[in-house]
Amino acid sequence: MNPKKSRVFSGARPTGRQHLGNYLGAINNYIALQEEYDCIYCIVDLHALTTMETTRDLRQNILEMAYDFLAAGMDPQKSIVFVQSHVPQLTELHTILSMVTMLGKLTDLPTFKEKARMQPQNINYGLVGYPVLMTADITLYKAEFVPVGIDQAPHIEFAREIVRSFNYRYNTNCLIEPQMKVTKVPKVLGTDGVQKMGKSLNNHIELAATPEETQQRVMTMVTDPQRQRRSDPGRPEVCNVFSMHKVFSSPEEVESIERDCRSAGIGCVDCKKLFAKNLNAHLAGFRQRRTEIAARPDEVIDILQDGAKRARVIAEATMQEVRAAVGML
Ligand code: SF4
Repeated sequence: MNPKKSRVFSGARPTGRQHLGNYLGAINNYIALQEEYDCIYCIVDLHALTTMETTRDLRQNILEMAYDFLAAGMDPQKSIVFVQSHVPQLTELHTILSMVTMLGKLTDLPTFKEKARMQPQNINYGLVGYPVLMTADITLYKAEFVPVGIDQAPHIEFAREIVRSFNYRYNTNCLIEPQMKVTKVPKVLGTDGVQKMGKSLNNHIELAATPEETQQRVMTMVTDPQRQRRSDPGRPEVCNVFSMHKVFSSPEEVESIERDCRSAGIGCVDCKKLFAKNLNAHLAGFRQRRTEIAARPDEVIDILQDGAKRARVIAEATMQEVRAAVGML
């Protein structure tokens, strides 16, 4: 860690193999931030437990996510990459912060209400305390910034409130109020062209899929709904395939697709084939690296354990200040 750089923390739930939405929405940003900041990236397995019905795939999902992160360019030499539960100081800070967080505020949060609505049979204690655990995550490592989309602003503001309550009650400034590092998170639509890309909706395109699987998925993508026949002019501005071309195709290709779509000079089938080809070309290096990384899971576990070891050093230093501020023996 470089003491001259500001510190960034981000946690990602272990959702297994990552998809294009994760890549464009988060992973790309994680990689870019490494150049300018001291980054701490955490796979938040404890957070995942709040909504999981079974932990059968948890270990594998953690590994699959780590393979994707590392293959995409997350560099353990530059950043700390680790698994949340490997730092026991986190649960200690979570407990202490829970004493300065009012229950009514937690149960009033829209995110809690939404989760409670989605899993009425499992409104567990962890679900209520989720924002406290998140605050502990950020403050344990003295992170100054948290990269989030603007929709996450209330969560960071709530974390700042918890920190202020703690610092005020114990007359200290040992915990840092985190700031948002607002990132422009593109809304990546799924193959249905309507909903945000996500595994639960089965509208995703996996980064680690084979070129053939990728092409099959791309061919199912919904395009301009008004374009019924090949001879109908299309409207690229409402077409999700065109949005993806803008990310993965050359400016010349984007220009000609836009023109040819409007004049019915190109059909959707050919347009999608071109997108699949360009996407596969873009991901070829990533996939090669991922295959090599996934063939050596022990090395990835070593990377995660080394990351946790470095994270624990920072965590313990923070906890010594916290325990002293609280007045523990
Ligand atoms: Fe979309 Fe391409 Fe079809 Fe136009 S030609 S509607 S941009 S898929």
